[in-house]
Amino acid sequence: MGAKGWFILKFLMFQGLFISPPQPQADFDFFYLVLQWPGAYCDTKRTCCYPTSGKPAADFGIHGLWPNYKDGSWPSNCDPDSEFDRSQISDLVSRLKRNWPTLACPSNDGFKFWEYEWGKHGTCSESVLSLHAYFDTTLRLKDQANLLQTLTDSGIKPDDGFYDLQKISDAIKDAIGFTPGIQCNKDPERNDQLHQIFLCVDTSGANFIECPILPRGRCPSQVQFAMF
Ligand code: 5GP
Ligand code: 5GP
Repeated sequence: MGAKGWFILKFLMFQGLFISPPQPQADFDFFYLVLQWPGAYCDTKRTCCYPTSGKPAADFGIHGLWPNYKDGSWPSNCDPDSEFDRSQISDLVSRLKRNWPTLACPSNDGFKFWEYEWGKHGTCSESVLSLHAYFDTTLRLKDQANLLQTLTDSGIKPDDGFYDLQKISDAIKDAIGFTPGIQCNKDPERNDQLHQIFLCVDTSGANFIECPILPRGRCPSQVQFAMF
């Protein structure tokens, strides 16, 4: 390329700096993608109700995608005026039912749970994700995490067995590249069991990242992985 060609190329690159679309500015620091083990939700004293579509698959389900601050605090219910318009996510409903099943009673189709999560958490990331993008992104991240497969590949199965917390954490770290947050609850026999896994995601919703701060875990060194 001659000098003139270089000049034109450099000029175009310089222009590119200014004409590339501006990235939206997030008003939070990162997301937690929170996945729940249905066996641990359902075997507590509170019990659970299966959604109207039937018993969910024995897989981690989505609890939510939660905007968070680095210091551990978080915004909530950021836009009471935002409408949860079902028609905007109609193309996602079958995936939501499969991957974001509601286990609360009374039994319902799931819209109540999705609307609650949108109102409490989703409205706090409207600077980067629209209603449709919020649910689409969360579903994509859940697939990307592929948690149950990762754990079973490491011999960690939902068979009521007890597993080293460290081994659970290491298996996820080896697969995703980042340390997860792990929360436990207690079954009726007071055994500590694997309840929720937290993965951190950048503010665009595109990539897993190392957690700026891990949620409080409440897990001992050995935890039960409940059947479902
Ligand atoms: P819990 O007290 O059961 O841990 O949490 C109750 C609710 O508070 C959660 O379902 C969630 O909506 C919110 N919450 C708890 N911890 C966090 C957190 O670390 N970050 C965010 N964004 N929300 C949280
Ligand atoms: P959070 O703990 O996110 O503040 O509240 C979750 C809300 O969603 C609760 O009111 C809970 O009853 C409802 N909910 C409906 N289905 C589920 C579910 O499958 N898991 C959880 N954790 N909450 C659910």
